[in-house]
Amino acid sequence: MPSKKEGVMIILSSPSGAGKTTLVKMLSKLDNFDISISHTTRQPRHNEKFNEDYFFIDEAEFKRLINNQEFLEYAKVFDNFYGTTRTPVINKLNEGKNVLFDIDWQGADQIKNKKLDYKLITFFILPPSKQVLFDRLSNRDMKDKLIADERMMQFERDVLHWINYDYVIINEKLDSCFSKIKKLIFAEIENGSKDYDLEYIRKHVETLTS
Ligand code: 5GP
Repeated sequence: MPSKKEGVMIILSSPSGAGKTTLVKMLSKLDNFDISISHTTRQPRHNEKFNEDYFFIDEAEFKRLINNQEFLEYAKVFDNFYGTTRTPVINKLNEGKNVLFDIDWQGADQIKNKKLDYKLITFFILPPSKQVLFDRLSNRDMKDKLIADERMMQFERDVLHWINYDYVIINEKLDSCFSKIKKLIFAEIENGSKDYDLEYIRKHVETLTS
């Protein structure tokens, strides 16, 4: 029987509000790409769909999944738990699907450290400036300005993890950011040449953190 090529794992992380969830959704429309749907104990936002954006569960159920060792990775982000269950991911990869993960740096570290037998490509998405980030966060949930402020503070800490990723991409314009990521993924899969300027990224991070 012809053996099907295994899929690759693609992680996108970013400080909250840099646009990675939209990017993950755009990438998932590509042929043979699928999103890993996470479990979370956070409350759904008004526009979120159950079992599509997340599996929304309570803390008792989350702890049961931890105890049953069902998570490939999990972490506490802000005040809630988030985790990726192992079985659906491995099944998709074995079917030859490329799996996209919208997870934070803690989860990315855990998956990296597992050294699974699947190719892993990691991306860290940054906003073009702090002001743009603040505007995006404030527009997301107008009633909760406190959350925007809290996430801006978290940004300062999260951004430091850029160094652990294969690629850092600045999300200034969604379409060009998407096509950069897409090109890099296919270059990685096909072992082609990669258009990536690390020095430019280093300078951008300096501006964001100064
Ligand atoms: P949000 O509450 O805005 O949907 O997500 C908050 C953060 O949790 C984001 O950085 C998102 O990428 C991260 N996140 C979502 N699902 C998971 C997961 O399964 N594991 C980990 N480690 N982080 C996740």
